[in-house]
Amino acid sequence: MKIDLLIKNGAVITMDPENRVIDNCDVAINKGEIIEIGQNLAYEAEETLDAKNCVVTPGFINGHSHVYQSTIEGIGYDMHFDPWNWRFLFPVVSKIQPKHAKAGAALAALELIKNGVTTISDHWYLHTDMDNVHRVTETFDEAGVRCQMVFGLLDQTFAGEQIDSEYMTMIQQEDILLSEARRFHKEWHNTRRTTVALGPGSTEDISESLMIKTVELAKELDINVSTHVAGWIEINSFTMRKFGERDLEHFHTLGLTGPKGVMFHAVWLSDHELDIMAQTNTKVVHCPVANAYLGYGIAKISNMLSRGIKVGLGTDGAASYTYDMLSVARAAAMLQKAPQLDAESITAEQVMGMLTRDGAAVLGLDHQTGSLEVGKRADIAVVDFNAPHLLPVGRWLPKLIYSANGSDVIHTIVDGKVLMKNRKVLTMDEDQVMQEAIEARNDLVKIAGQETRDLLAAPWPKEGPYWRSIVKK
Ligand SMILES: [Zn+2]
Repeated sequence: MKIDLLIKNGAVITMDPENRVIDNCDVAINKGEIIEIGQNLAYEAEETLDAKNCVVTPGFINGHSHVYQSTIEGIGYDMHFDPWNWRFLFPVVSKIQPKHAKAGAALAALELIKNGVTTISDHWYLHTDMDNVHRVTETFDEAGVRCQMVFGLLDQTFAGEQIDSEYMTMIQQEDILLSEARRFHKEWHNTRRTTVALGPGSTEDISESLMIKTVELAKELDINVSTHVAGWIEINSFTMRKFGERDLEHFHTLGLTGPKGVMFHAVWLSDHELDIMAQTNTKVVHCPVANAYLGYGIAKISNMLSRGIKVGLGTDGAASYTYDMLSVARAAAMLQKAPQLDAESITAEQVMGMLTRDGAAVLGLDHQTGSLEVGKRADIAVVDFNAPHLLPVGRWLPKLIYSANGSDVIHTIVDGKVLMKNRKVLTMDEDQVMQEAIEARNDLVKIAGQETRDLLAAPWPKEGPYWRSIVKK
């Protein structure tokens, strides 16, 4: 039998239920599926990749991003989320058009593939043009990555900014959002490698009415509902003042918790809220670098894991400055160990789980991806350990987590298709993607009508949540 692809002689980190790591191991792939894993497999293959001195691992999973921000990293920096939004993000992206959306998604897809990231979940809410989200999804589809597109819904504010501002072009009316979400789901859900989820912005961005209807729609369509919860500490005060409950408690009251509820950030949760998460099998996407960079804090990940809560990893937007999920995974480990004064507070195996198998489970994609097992789709990264900082011998997994970088990935495979071979991306024109990203970035800054340094003069909102009005004075 001639198969499509054979990966030979690698150190295979399976992430299967027994967590097997097998030296000198082959992975046989046909029609996009893993058909056998073992030593000295005797298949004839259309293509063979020699993985001697390499680790063969499940492709990495980025469970939360806003890829439109890939082109605007560094525009405004070292500041709280709020002033960054008012002064930089809103003016620059409020007039984003499908061509900019596409260029940002292509840049992100290129970086993902170059870092061995095979699944991306993007939370897209910039509906300045309803085609934006379709162009982004199409771009991921063409690049060949697996994606869960979260259709964002904002009908009230964007991070507290009111609808009457000239910048708030991304906020839409409830009925339009719901019908467009339906249309988007119908067009994309379960097509090739794409699934769809619904994504209310946060407790302050969306009306109670739209929140309830979004939960109803997600239940009707049997898809994930994914939202930002208790990221920055002030959102809890906002939710308590407005609804008399903490952030996650309020989402629980509204019905967002449960096996298909995915919570981004989840930094400021009480013990009671952690209990709710565990009891309802609600999932978490941990964004350690963005949370640290923005001064949000450190989520209680080791506590969540010990309660059995499923946690994946994400970058969030520009605040991670990277799509290298190995660097994000490393940060996740360090940020548990250091403040707890406990090297055992999280293990490399747990972090690897978040990066692959558990990340897939969070997105509801673990039947397809997240581990190397017979019958799963072949989403694989091959990491070259023949380098001084790695050394191809001994315990592979801890070195993958603590030493390897995304740039050590030499082959990236999704659905059995080789997207990157020997660091050359085969599904995208790398130079063209870079050029179009530069043009899109310059165009967005130009549309904002100001040089980025002058955006510091952008006005604060007339109305806003209480903590912002304090800052204003
Ligand atoms: Zn986010």
